[in-house]
Amino acid sequence: MTNYRGAPPPEDPPHRRSRLVIGNWKMNPAQLPEATALARAATGLGSAAVTVGVAPPAAWLIPVADSLRGSDVLLFGQDVHWEEKGAFTGQVSAPMLVGVANGTIVGHSEVRRDQGDDDARVARKAAAALRSGLRVVYCLGESLEERQRGETDAVIARQVREGLGAIEKDLLSALDGTWRLAVAYEPIWAIGSGVPASGAQVSEAIATLRAELGRVGVDGEAVSVLYGGSVSASSVAEFAGADGVDGALVGGASLKADEFAAIVRAFR
Ligand code: PEP
Repeated sequence: MTNYRGAPPPEDPPHRRSRLVIGNWKMNPAQLPEATALARAATGLGSAAVTVGVAPPAAWLIPVADSLRGSDVLLFGQDVHWEEKGAFTGQVSAPMLVGVANGTIVGHSEVRRDQGDDDARVARKAAAALRSGLRVVYCLGESLEERQRGETDAVIARQVREGLGAIEKDLLSALDGTWRLAVAYEPIWAIGSGVPASGAQVSEAIATLRAELGRVGVDGEAVSVLYGGSVSASSVAEFAGADGVDGALVGGASLKADEFAAIVRAFR
């Protein structure tokens, strides 16, 4: 298309947030054949309306990538280090993931808990991934104690300000028609507990989250926001229809092929 000097800039295309359902397998399954079978079961679940992804443990990434070749299932790491290489035992860098995975999760509460990641560290991880051209699923959410003290909004605001707000703006705004950044609202008390948040709680938290994104210069309306925390085939309807929810980050239920398929279908 020809650009004419002096003509008004082309209008931004209308924002269309992707609907995403991503399975976070955590440190599962224990055996590789189960992992590749689970990955293959996810192929064909996606549609024009919903994108499907899986996040296997690091050791299974390459064989799972092989079994997903040619499919429309996106592959994610579960975490990434902020450095490119070096003396960081046990870690995987963003450039190492490039060519294997499409993106990575960062800031999962289990990683924050086990590795002592704070918002600043999660921001560095996200920035490294975005700089390498990977998509990022950025997790945040409050603990039970924080919710009980009425601090949910303040915690979300802090996590956005000190985390996403610390990432260079050009990395966050490098939207090229496909999504680069999704945020997963994952209240810690709902993860793995079998007790999901209610649709109303999730919508309220996500409205806060989107407003806070605006305060750090990110167009919250353009970013897909997922809910994560004990989403199952029986609870998914609560979130699929909730205001502001663009999909789900699914832990335990993503290890059961039928259940994961039912969750994806709810977002179609
Ligand atoms: C998760 O690990 O991101 C998660 C949401 O787990 P679960 O669905 O098992 O609560």
